Amino acid sequence: MGQTEVRTRFAPSPTGYMHVGNLRTALYTYLIAKSQGGKFILRIEDTDQERYVEGAVEIIYKTLRETGLLWDEGPDVGGPVGPYVQSERRDIYARYAKELIEKGGAYYCFCGKERLDELRKIHEASGVPHKYDGHCRDLAPEEVQRLLAEGVPHVVRQKIPTEGSTTFHDVIFGDITVENDTLDDNVLLKTDGLPTYNFANVIDDHLMGITHVVRGIEYLSSAPKYNLLYEAFGWDIPTYIHCPPVMRDATHKLSKRHGDPSYEDLVADGYLKEAVLNYVALLGWSPGGEQEIFSLEELVKAFSIDGISKSPAIFDTAKLKWINSAY
Ligand code: GLU
Ligand code: ZN
Repeated sequence: MGQTEVRTRFAPSPTGYMHVGNLRTALYTYLIAKSQGGKFILRIEDTDQERYVEGAVEIIYKTLRETGLLWDEGPDVGGPVGPYVQSERRDIYARYAKELIEKGGAYYCFCGKERLDELRKIHEASGVPHKYDGHCRDLAPEEVQRLLAEGVPHVVRQKIPTEGSTTFHDVIFGDITVENDTLDDNVLLKTDGLPTYNFANVIDDHLMGITHVVRGIEYLSSAPKYNLLYEAFGWDIPTYIHCPPVMRDATHKLSKRHGDPSYEDLVADGYLKEAVLNYVALLGWSPGGEQEIFSLEELVKAFSIDGISKSPAIFDTAKLKWINSAY
C-alpha cells in the first residue's frame, strides 16, 4: 500500500484584496503539498453573499497565476474539475445536512427571529454568554415533518453533545480542549438553504480528500466544532496547521482597511513578484540556515512544517526592500 497523497487547499473567501497574510497562507499551502509531491487545490468560498466583493475572485486567480502558485485541478491545467466554487455546490451541502440529521449530528430548527432575539435579550440581561437554547433539538419526528410540509422557514443546526469535552489537535499550537457545553448549536444550513462557512468548509475538505488544512489563526477557536462534525459523519480528521497572524506592529494585525499594502499594491510600488513571494515565505517560517533568497522551486525543496513559527510575524518593509534588491 502506498502512502496517502498529500492534498492541501487554499480556500479564500472573495471579500476583497489579497492581503499579505492571504498570500502567505496560499504559499504555505502550496509548499506543504509540493514539498511532499502532493496536490494543491483552489476552492473559492463564496457562500456568504453579503461579504462577496465584485472582482475579488479575479484578483485571487491573477495573484496565484502571477506568483506561480498554480492549482492542480481545474480547466486551466487540463484537469476535469475545479477550481471549486462553493456557490455552485449548494445541492451537495444540502444532501450532507440531511445525512447528518439522520445520523443524529444535526437537527431542523424552526425558531423565528423573534424568539431568537428574545433569547438574546434574556441572556444579555442576565449576563450569561448567548447561545441557542436547544428548543428544537428534541421535536417529535411527526412534528418536524408537519412543519416542513407546511413550509415553515427553518435552519439546520449542529447537535453539539451536551456533556464531555472535545480535544482538537493543531500542529503549531498543540492540543486544545473545550467543554462541549460551552459550544453553541451553530447553524449549518441557513433559511435560504445555503451552508454557513464552517459547514461547507468541512464537507469540502472531506470530499476533496484534503489531508492538511492550512489557514489563519482566527479559525482556531472554531476548530473543535469541526472535529465534532467529522466525528458525527464518521470521517477522518485532517491535519490542521493554523498560522500566526502577520502584524503591522506588536499590537495591530495587517489590514487593508488601515492602509496596509495588498499584494497588488506592493507590485504596483515596483517590488518584483518573486521578491514579494520570497519575502512572504520568510514571514513566519524559518529555513533554518543562512540562505534568505529563494526561488519558488528552492522554497519547495527547503520547506518544512517544523519551520513555521508559533509567534506572530511582523511585516517589515526594510527587509522586503533588501530582498527585492537581491533580485
Ligand atoms: N475562507 C476562509 C477565508 O478566506 C478560509 C478558510 C480556510 O482556509 O479554512 O478566510
Ligand atoms: Zn429552534
